[in-house]
Amino acid sequence: MSPSRVLVLNSGSSSVKYQLLDMRDSSRLAAGLVERIGEETSRLRHTPLARGGETREWNAPVADHEAALKAVSQELARDGLGLDSPELAAIGHRVVHGGKRFTEPTVVDEAVLAEIERLIPVAPLHNPANLTGIRTAQALRPDLPQVAVFDTAFHTTMPESAARYAIDVRTADEHRIRRYGFHGTSHAYVSRATAKLLGRAPEEVNVIVLHLGNGASASAVRGGRCVDTSMGLTPLEGLVMGTRSGDADPAVIFHLARVGGMSIDEIDTLLNKKSGLVGLCGDNDMREIRRRIDEGDAQAQLAFDIYIHRLKKYIGAYCAVLGTVDAIAFTAGVGENAAPVREAAVAGLEILGLAVDGALNAVRSDEPRLISPEDARVKIAVVPTDEELEIATQTFALVEG
Ligand code: AMP
Repeated sequence: MSPSRVLVLNSGSSSVKYQLLDMRDSSRLAAGLVERIGEETSRLRHTPLARGGETREWNAPVADHEAALKAVSQELARDGLGLDSPELAAIGHRVVHGGKRFTEPTVVDEAVLAEIERLIPVAPLHNPANLTGIRTAQALRPDLPQVAVFDTAFHTTMPESAARYAIDVRTADEHRIRRYGFHGTSHAYVSRATAKLLGRAPEEVNVIVLHLGNGASASAVRGGRCVDTSMGLTPLEGLVMGTRSGDADPAVIFHLARVGGMSIDEIDTLLNKKSGLVGLCGDNDMREIRRRIDEGDAQAQLAFDIYIHRLKKYIGAYCAVLGTVDAIAFTAGVGENAAPVREAAVAGLEILGLAVDGALNAVRSDEPRLISPEDARVKIAVVPTDEELEIATQTFALVEG
């Protein structure tokens, strides 16, 4: 039998998340996470899903990504799933920034690595870690195809009118400044899964996807192709997020530098790490914010209101961009779990044909489902995202094809 397993690696600056899938039936064989790489308190958590095994967890220093991947390989080997297995068909890597060039998943070679490296200035936090993950995996299994699946790829279909900022064209081109968009793997998966839920082909439907996690982004998808998205040059633009401000007047930055005396790095940290929900109320977890609201906390209420106000503006904008909308899909941690967010996001938007059914919205489930009234013109859906499955599917299709 030909090899059918795909290892999916999501390498962050100090963590590696992984899943091993068998693409014969898209089943998950194992999943885990190495955290705090490079620190004394590194932690590995591994769950052998295939045999219903118990999660194993240990704390011990893991010096770097190479050590992390070796530790992952050892854990997999204990379940008979080691990286040296002939059943492994490929390793699929999440790569955050693929620029304009990478519109599809791509088998990694030296030229691809060089291009991912060239994009580091526009993804300084993510692309270096992604590169390290690829190089480490290559060293462990040089014979195996390594496939890069880019967060930006799904958004490369945006028309220039959506992708360009209205700033001097030559300056923008020189510095490769444009809207790239992120979370693309999730937007691709969820928009397709939403079409399936409606019993229609992706080419036939227009969908607004609201990926609301700690990071959050919206996209407008026409007939399976992205035509606009809320994140931009970097994942800072757009919706209010856990710690990121999303949209703000660019002049806020000049003001903070000139009047506030802050350095560029300080402003970067402020907008990326100390803003959004955490900057507004001190908490970035929507569960905690809802709990505080229930206790009458006005600061938490205001943070929630600002979050919802922004979300509504994007829903309205993307209805206008698409012209006709068949469905709005909520996904990721907040979108899948926070019924009050879904309810508030469409409240008062009857003029756009939007409404949620209170009872359906309150149902908790891991399955894709509709939460709009049966006769609704625009369907509202909750569709759990599965970026690992999407990366594995794209990786396997490429190496098989
Ligand atoms: P993600 O980035 O997709 O993993 O989403 C993480 C976020 O989802 C957390 O920071 C929480 O704000 C949110 N979240 C997770 N579970 C729930 C829940 N049951 N209710 C509300 N929000 C949740």
